[in-house]
Amino acid sequence: MKNNILVIGAGYAGILTAKKLAKKFKKNNDVTITIIDKNPFHTMLTELHEVAANRVDEDSIKISLKKVFAGRKVNVVMDTVKSIDFNKQNVIGDNNQYSYDYIVIAAGSKPTFFGVPGAEEFTHKLWSYDDAVKLKHHIHNAFRMAATETNIEKKKRLLSFYVVGAGFTGVEMAGELAEYVPLLCEKYEIDREYVEIVNVDVLQRAVPILPEKLSAKVEKRLQKMGVKLMLNTGVCGVGADFIEVKKDNACVRYTAGTVIWTAGIEGSDITNEAAKSLESVNRGRIKTDSYLRSLDNDHVYVVGDNMFYIPEGEERPVPQMVENCEHSAATCANNIYCAITGKGEMEVYKPSFHGVMVCVGGRYGVARVGLPNHMFNLPSFFAMFAKHFINIIYFIQVLGWNKIFSYVRHEFFTIRNCRSFVGGHFSNRTPSFLLVALRVWLGAVWLFEGIMKITEGWLSSPKLTGFFGGADSWYNSILKVANDTGSS
Ligand SMILES: Cc1cc2nc3c(=O)[nH]c(=O)nc-3n(C[C@H](O)[C@H](O)[C@H](O)COP(=O)(O)OP(=O)(O)OC[C@H]3O[C@@H](n4cnc5c(N)ncnc54)[C@H](O)[C@@H]3O)c2cc1C
Repeated sequence: MKNNILVIGAGYAGILTAKKLAKKFKKNNDVTITIIDKNPFHTMLTELHEVAANRVDEDSIKISLKKVFAGRKVNVVMDTVKSIDFNKQNVIGDNNQYSYDYIVIAAGSKPTFFGVPGAEEFTHKLWSYDDAVKLKHHIHNAFRMAATETNIEKKKRLLSFYVVGAGFTGVEMAGELAEYVPLLCEKYEIDREYVEIVNVDVLQRAVPILPEKLSAKVEKRLQKMGVKLMLNTGVCGVGADFIEVKKDNACVRYTAGTVIWTAGIEGSDITNEAAKSLESVNRGRIKTDSYLRSLDNDHVYVVGDNMFYIPEGEERPVPQMVENCEHSAATCANNIYCAITGKGEMEVYKPSFHGVMVCVGGRYGVARVGLPNHMFNLPSFFAMFAKHFINIIYFIQVLGWNKIFSYVRHEFFTIRNCRSFVGGHFSNRTPSFLLVALRVWLGAVWLFEGIMKITEGWLSSPKLTGFFGGADSWYNSILKVANDTGSS
């Protein structure tokens, strides 16, 4: 019997689900797999702040879907899904309609504004490739305009940046911006004193998902980089050139040239739409059973950010993070395979998460990692190392070794202004390119040779007497030739 599997969204969860399904149905020509996304590429959302603050090139966070699925039995379709008819098993997109037997909802999230007036209209978002590129140009433009602005008030307005939200997205954005600002100040000859970066959140501490000690480290680092923290402070309004925050039950207005909104997320438009027909919770997360099927429909699977599921023995729903996408993709692919073929056993979703990592700029990070009951904190160097290592593992799953070379090139070999946890040591943009390896090699050879010479007894008796056949005999041979020529 023919079966059509449709995956909506080629984010972390959708891509991995489609890849795993393709592997399982490799030899089954009765099954077709189609993945639909509004973009022809997959976006590494976790790296958006790096693009927004010009640490890495725009292209480094895009992965072509055609390349991801090259040579695999997956049809890649570029379309924006507008609605899903779960009764007729039909999906309606901007360009076409698609029927399915099994559907996987993996359409991710979008920012939510909690009804704050002006927030949606006047803030910059950070939840897509376009958002990041737009923000990057905006930041650059603000400095360019400020450079020629003679009115100090206007100059300060252009250079005031508010990041709303001190969760990991907000903190990463504020840290990255703080790292970028001195470079822009130098370029446009602007006094750093004129620039203001503020991180606002209603919560009491930064990145509350971390233990208090690590939150304190993050806060300290941000402050050291010149970011002002306004915690315990709600935002009550945003306008074209201001932000209003709540203080002592009143709204106080501050001048703000740029407000970046990273305060919260809800399901993407299509997920919110689907959530109207399927049992779901607030902000468009669709409830699933332990096999990741919608509670209302056996032919609808939900993965990644879109799912709402509390694993057995846990009190909280699975987090909206990449690791949940990876685990849910594997369970979903296995269960669809069982449902279609009747082979194997349906798998209960029992994810085991390995921690959280937060970067504050390209050179500093904190991490709490390990196994569920054995978590430990990592020092900054190892936290940054772990973050890059995890990205590399993800790339191996998605695109194989090719993408790794490209990632390493962008993050280390072509990094600008030493903005990496190994500084500019491996960057061809710094004069010391490749010198580290050379210096280490030279040092090792010197050390080795020195030790060898001591063991050979160089400290007790001269050893150069035989050099070039011995310096004396060499000198004598020259004298002899001179004498012979003179006497003849
Ligand atoms: C700046 C930033 C930093 C982050 N840092 C971390 C981190 O350090 N660690 C971590 O674990 N998580 C992090 N996250 C969260 C992580 O990115 C998400 O949990 C993850 O992206 C969710 O994956 P997903 O596949 O569910 O959805 P997404 O990755 O959002 O993918 C959804 C896909 O669906 C497509 N789509 C949406 N609607 C439609 C439609 N109507 N039609 C067709 N296609 C559609 C989109 O184009 C997109 O490709 C971060 C997020 C951001 C924005």
